[in-house]
Amino acid sequence: MNLVPMSEILNEANKKGYAVGGFNINNLEFLQGIIEAAEEVKAPLILQTSEGAMKYIGRYYVTGMVEAATRDIEIPVALHLDHGGSFEKAMECIRLGYSSVMFDGSHYSFEKNIELTKKVVEAAHSVGVSVEAELGQLGGTEDDITVEEEDATFTKPEEAVEFVDRTGVDALAVAIGTAHGVYEGDPELDFERLSEINEKTEVPLVLHGASGVTDNDVRKAVTLGINKVNVNTNFQQAFSAKVRELMDNDPELYDPRKYCGPGREAIKEKVKEKIDVLGSGNKAVN
Ligand SMILES: [Zn+2]
Repeated sequence: MNLVPMSEILNEANKKGYAVGGFNINNLEFLQGIIEAAEEVKAPLILQTSEGAMKYIGRYYVTGMVEAATRDIEIPVALHLDHGGSFEKAMECIRLGYSSVMFDGSHYSFEKNIELTKKVVEAAHSVGVSVEAELGQLGGTEDDITVEEEDATFTKPEEAVEFVDRTGVDALAVAIGTAHGVYEGDPELDFERLSEINEKTEVPLVLHGASGVTDNDVRKAVTLGINKVNVNTNFQQAFSAKVRELMDNDPELYDPRKYCGPGREAIKEKVKEKIDVLGSGNKAVN
């Protein structure tokens, strides 16, 4: 696969103050729509698969498809594991040829998260693969530490500094008020917290669950240090809305190419809109 490590893409974004899309692949049409859009607007790209998507597509199909998609490209592309849950899964993806992995130890204690993340970082870095980690905290009491409700799941700036320092991660996903999937109501992002984390740490920061966040809020987050923005739900919605429209209009429709093709176009348009918001268009030119 014609891939670059994610850190190469993100360090450049960090230097120049824009964000790169971490766009999830769910099937062939997603991959095609995403890569075509990024190529057209000359944007660096991070393709990513969740463990669930890997299972759905099949791991060798993922690498086979990405191999084909990146054969003649001019833009830098990374292939990244999204929300890897274990050391083993991260190693599996590295063997498959991924150029980046996320180890998500955010549900563990701070110390355990550091210990497990560090292990992944040491192994991944020894073969030139980048690592993203996540730091946040759930509300309630664990051992004798109580997390106040207002701080629940939010990343603490001073912990972020220590975490990055001790693990050596290449990128850090921060919890500042977003959530995965579809939102009920508009999320309120804690920009002050984000800017404090950004001032105290050197690594590129990652925003997860950005589908329900307004374009203006995403732009603001990018100016405050976010260099990677994960989008999945918005593309799923665009694809499904197009397929539903075509099916509703023509109950006789049976050729998948006649609805998956337009679905792919809908994803492509959405990807271009997102890249525009992130500011990564025309950044893949020297
Ligand atoms: Zn996520």
